[in-house]
Amino acid sequence: MLLKTATSNHKDEILVKDNNRCEKIEARMSSDMDLKAIASENEQLRNTTLCKVCLDEHVSVVFLPCGHLACCGHCAPAIRACPVCETFIKGTVKAFLS
Ligand SMILES: [Zn+2]
Ligand SMILES: [Zn+2]
Repeated sequence: MLLKTATSNHKDEILVKDNNRCEKIEARMSSDMDLKAIASENEQLRNTTLCKVCLDEHVSVVFLPCGHLACCGHCAPAIRACPVCETFIKGTVKAFLS
């Protein structure tokens, strides 16, 4: 009898602890600052995958020998030097982002 009571109290304690943790996580997720940080990180990520020439298509061509992934398939054939480091382009490799 005594053992049963102790077990049930222990269970309640665990439940309360879990609830507290959930509330803390939710509070952190919905804070304005974090949302802004996520949004700006998202924006940065999007910008790094956009073609540096047309800023419209996503990057899909790697320049050789510098190795920069900076242009889409439409712009790459039209330029002579890498838009990032201005190295003369000797070749290109089609890249696929998965
Ligand atoms: Zn482009
Ligand atoms: Zn380059």
